[in-house]
Amino acid sequence: MSNNLLYSGKAKDIFATDVEGVILARYKDQATAFNGVKKEQIAGKGVLNNKISAFIFEKLNAAGVATHFIEKISDTDQLNKKVNIIPLEVVLRNYTAGSFSKRFGVEEGIRLDQPIVEFYYKNDDLDDPFINDEHVKFLKIASDEEIAFLKEETRRINELLSDWFRQIGLRLIDFKLEFGFDQDGRIILADEFSPDNCRLWDAEGHHMDKDVFRRGLGELTDVYQIVWEKLQAIK
Ligand code: UDP
Repeated sequence: MSNNLLYSGKAKDIFATDVEGVILARYKDQATAFNGVKKEQIAGKGVLNNKISAFIFEKLNAAGVATHFIEKISDTDQLNKKVNIIPLEVVLRNYTAGSFSKRFGVEEGIRLDQPIVEFYYKNDDLDDPFINDEHVKFLKIASDEEIAFLKEETRRINELLSDWFRQIGLRLIDFKLEFGFDQDGRIILADEFSPDNCRLWDAEGHHMDKDVFRRGLGELTDVYQIVWEKLQAIK
């Protein structure tokens, strides 16, 4: 599989497969933050994120969300439908945290009356800038209808995820999704859902996500392992 690498990302490598329209995602042990400025190899991270993301995507598929996920085939690998990734990071916030708190000068952990959806333009050279709907149209990334769909679908996914995490005593503070166009031109959920791209706080306010790495709060894989074990209790 190693000679048909299509793309090497920060947390995953993507390989072509023999099957038309199917790619293999291999989860890596690399952790990065601040657009790659902080970077470390963390043994076991790839295995944990592969199983956490597979678990969540299976549940989303079962709940009727169209996703790229097909199946997990090994500790580090999963098969996904090939999509044309929409170059947007779609962030949904239930509580203030991270860049939102910084931008608006508000403390972290304040519940928002209504979840807020934000778009960031996926472009490493530009540092993934915060953009609005009109910028999305200017960049010809998506139409009005597609923008509306991305927001609605993200809010629907948030309701499912927030409920699942509530069941296991974790608060879903915020998260980032990526979508893509499938072979039929339909927009489906792609990329991954793991503690690398969401914030989860436990009842005592402990960070159970990549902020442990970003902020040097402890051992990342210990925390991800706890999230994985808790997930088993979701109904
Ligand atoms: N996020 C992500 N990839 C990015 C930027 C953010 O997965 O390149 C996630 C992050 O883990 C958090 C949410 O999106 O769950 C909101 O992140 P924020 O804008 O607060 O940025 P940060 O504080 O992570 O720089």
